[in-house]
Amino acid sequence: MESQQSDALDVERIREDFPILQREFNGNQVVYLDNAATTQTPEPVIESISDYYRNYNANVHRGIHQLSQEASIAYEEAHDKLAEFIGANGREEMVFTKNTTESENLVAYAWGLNELGPGDEVVLSEMEHHASLVTWQQLGKKTGADVKYIPVTDEGYLDMEAAEKLITDDTKMVSVVHVSNTLGTTNPVGELADIAHDHDSYIFVDGAQAVPNRPVDVQAIDADFYAFSGHKMVGPTGIGGLYGKEHVLEEMEPYLYGGDMIRKVTYDDSTWEDLPWKFEAGTPNIAQGIALAAAVDYLEDIGMERVQRHEEQLAEYAYDRLTEEGDVEIYGPPADDRGGLVSFNVDGVHAHDLSSILNDHAVAIRAGDHCTQPLHDKLGIAASARASFYIYNTREEIDKLVDAVDDARQLFA
Ligand code: PLP
Repeated sequence: MESQQSDALDVERIREDFPILQREFNGNQVVYLDNAATTQTPEPVIESISDYYRNYNANVHRGIHQLSQEASIAYEEAHDKLAEFIGANGREEMVFTKNTTESENLVAYAWGLNELGPGDEVVLSEMEHHASLVTWQQLGKKTGADVKYIPVTDEGYLDMEAAEKLITDDTKMVSVVHVSNTLGTTNPVGELADIAHDHDSYIFVDGAQAVPNRPVDVQAIDADFYAFSGHKMVGPTGIGGLYGKEHVLEEMEPYLYGGDMIRKVTYDDSTWEDLPWKFEAGTPNIAQGIALAAAVDYLEDIGMERVQRHEEQLAEYAYDRLTEEGDVEIYGPPADDRGGLVSFNVDGVHAHDLSSILNDHAVAIRAGDHCTQPLHDKLGIAASARASFYIYNTREEIDKLVDAVDDARQLFA
């Protein structure tokens, strides 16, 4: 108990770093509970972007001049920082992309289009985000590979017995989400990696809801690919990452062609730049990449174990408070076994109506299918409301959420 106390986040102090949390609308201070969609941005990250444009804005890898050199060094060092943050060996294994979606597409096109064909199988889970589900589904259609789904149990976990049977020697890629953005389930990605590798398949892990929220070590998982988005981890939009094992990335064809990713070009042929630049064609999101490194500094100062504990405690509190009245259904694992989010429905109130009433209280949540339409179909619902928590959220904010839900209940009673 004592160590929990000393490990608690100084949330009031953290909140001072996020100017947007002072925003008011509809006469109330914003209660921002849409963090699984996008997190807010602290001063050091805003400052990093501003510093870049004020002091060393230039194209990377192209100029001999001082500004270009400074920008190149900062951009390259950002790769090192992100690599270290997720346990990769170095910048060769850390490709900057726009976001998780682009990372999925990069692998699907650069690897899948060349390697998959009829008779091959790609194994996903029923709880995949559209970023993975639609990408591999469509790639299956292009290549003739079959796409199969690991079922989700009624309790919101992956059916691992079924996974063992679904992953076979025909499987060439297993693509699974590390933490579900709808159910809050943490999937046993290390175990799935072992099963995939026993069948000589690769595994791609969608870490969009894991890297921002917990310590991640891609080598301990033994992932072949691992993807995340900067805007969900106090970084800017427009920047994300793809980890790939170096030997796997080496063997892959480029995804986009053009400047910066080449070594030698003649009228007849071209050769490719070293990793990771082979996969970063054209002028990249330089300011955003550098600011993402500032976001990592910010999170590391807090400590990822503490980030995780804080969020999970909030999710547990929200779970208990929301279910007090007995008319709220929460999807996914129990209160004490979930990441920092709760997706739910209040009996008799459509999720969109609920979200709109919450907005009147300046409580920002998400309503819809959270880019998991097939999972919502399986749950037999068209939509759900989702409250998701981060380092600057408090129990008092969850109380405001619960009060606003009460208000909606009254209105629809
Ligand atoms: N995967 C998961 C689990 C997500 O939660 C999200 C975002 O909501 C994505 C993928 C897609 O992220 P992005 O829109 O940043 O590409």
